[in-house]
Formats: sequence, structure tokens, C-alpha cells
Amino acid sequence: MELIDGKATAAAIRAEIATEVEKRVAEGGRRPHLVAVLVGHDGGSESYVANKVKACAECGFRSTLIRRENDVTESEMMELIDNLNNDDDVDGFIIQLPLPAHIDEQKITAAVNPEKDVDGFNPVNVGRMSLGLPCFKSATPAGIVELLRRYSIPTRGRRCVIIGRSNIVGKPLASLMMQKGVDATVTVCHSASEGLADITREADILVAAVGRPGFVTADMVKPGAVVIDVGTTRVPDASRKSGFRLSGDVDFENVAPKCSYITPVPGGVGPMTIAMLMLNTLQASR
Ligand code: NAP
Repeated sequence: MELIDGKATAAAIRAEIATEVEKRVAEGGRRPHLVAVLVGHDGGSESYVANKVKACAECGFRSTLIRRENDVTESEMMELIDNLNNDDDVDGFIIQLPLPAHIDEQKITAAVNPEKDVDGFNPVNVGRMSLGLPCFKSATPAGIVELLRRYSIPTRGRRCVIIGRSNIVGKPLASLMMQKGVDATVTVCHSASEGLADITREADILVAAVGRPGFVTADMVKPGAVVIDVGTTRVPDASRKSGFRLSGDVDFENVAPKCSYITPVPGGVGPMTIAMLMLNTLQASR
């Protein structure tokens, strides 16, 4: 079994980006500028945004964090997005989700200029991705495909089973895995799927994006499979300074010995998501 080191791979990608940025700056070009909008003070969102800002510094980007309180109105958010869409100094921006319930997330993501939509959540980018056209790819699925590529894990003709059909992971990943060039045979499972373990046992590449710690047990995995664990659930843990630890969807201890490759949590898919956001921002600034 080989551990897929998302942390090291993401660091390598950030270093590649930084090299390109410094070259550009040396030639008189400008640094890419990413803006992150954070509404409220959710612990998970705070830490994701902090990691994104840190990654920007490592890539040589400028970054700006814009905060709004939970009582921000939808029209105030729309006005903010309009300003960012029209600000030539901003290459790309993200609205950290989730947003408070009184704000329509669909309306917000649709308002982001597709050319600055480095999260790849705008319907234009989602549609272009599914057509295989140039676009900003949703970062988590793009990070998974990049991990497979950098570890030279074959995908062509392989059976890929994805558990989860969310708009940010399962669905766009299915679209990327079946695309020409990646060429996997894809099955997507969800809460209404019958005989789940029978389906997952057929997977050469099994991706878990459920949000339930330990959901994927050893009996669900074919010997020699590649297992990608997207899950990141905060589980209370008194032994940690933070009071919690991150738990994946895979029963790592019992599944890992059966796999050819497996991603850990933390240190697997998570860092790659941010690295792909950086790549999208670099692309937006070109
Ligand atoms: P989500 O929107 O809650 O989707 C979960 C999916 O799991 C749904 O499609 C759901 O099916 C399916 N599901 C739930 N119970 C199931 C069951 N018993 N059998 C089969 N399928 C079941 O979650 P998400 O946004 O995709 O996130 C999934 C996990 O990944 C979370 O832990 C999240 O924190 C993590 N995540 C990590 C990253 C990263 O960068 N590492 C990025 C994004 C998300 P239905 O559609 O039928 O409800």
C-alpha cells in the first residue's frame, strides 16, 4: 500500500506556481490577486479561508480577505459581487460557502463573473466543464484527478465508483473522470443507491465524499483498489488543543492494508483543493 501524499503534492504545485509568478514579476508583470469573502465566523470556514490566504502568500499572490457579518443582506452581497466583478485589480474571487440561510447560494454563485469564478461554481463553468471546454474546474474534483495523474495511477478503462453526488464534489468529479483523456467508467452512488457495497467492491478507484466518518469499511473495498477519501468531518477530541480532529469517510486502519493507494485525512485531498484554487487564480490572471 502506498500513501498518496496530498500535502507534499500540493506544496510542489504551489512551488511551481511561485516560480511562474516570480518570473512574471521579474519581466514587469503583476502578481495575481485573489479576494476571499467570508460571511460570519464558522470555525470550518475561518480555517479554510485562512489556509487559502496562506497559500496565496506561498504562491506569491496578493490576497484580500473581505469579511461580512451573518446579518449581511442578499442585496448587499450582490452589490459586493458586482464591485468585485468590475474591479480590474481583482483576478479572481471566492465566496466561502456555506452562507447564512437567508442568502440564496445559487443566486450568489450565478452572479460571480465566470471569468473570475476561480471556485468553478458558476453554472457557466460547470456547464463548460461538463462539455470538456476550457473553464475553471471545481477545485476538489480537479485536485483528485491531479493526484491520480501525479501518482501515475491509470484511469483509462478503470472502474471508478464515487459515493456522493454533491454539486461541489461527486457530480463534477464524475464529469471529470469520464472525460476523454481520463477515460474511467464511472458509477455515482448516493443515499438511495441499493446494494452499495456490491457496487463499491467493483471499484478500481473508489472515492468517498459522504461526510460520515468511517463510512467506507474494509468489506466494501476490492483488494488492490485505489481509495480517495474526500470526507472531512470535525470529530470532538479532548486530546487536541483545538478540541477536535478531522475524520475522513474511510475506516483507514482497516481499509489501508487492502489498497494499492490511499489518501489520508488530513493531508490528502484537502491541501490539493487549495492548490487547485491557486492554479485557477493563476489562470485567471493570465
Ligand atoms: P454533501 O453535499 O453532504 O453530500 C453527501 C453525499 O453523500 C450526498 O450525495 C448523499 O446522498 C451521500 N450519502 C449520504 N449518506 C449516504 C449513504 N448512506 N449511502 C450513500 N450515499 C450517501 O457533502 P459534500 O459537500 O460532497 O462533502 C462530502 C464530504 O467531503 C464532507 O465531509 C465534506 O466536508 C468533505 N469535503 C472535503 C473537501 C476537501 O477539500 N477535502 C471539499 C469538499 C467537501 P444524497 O444526495 O442522496 O443525499
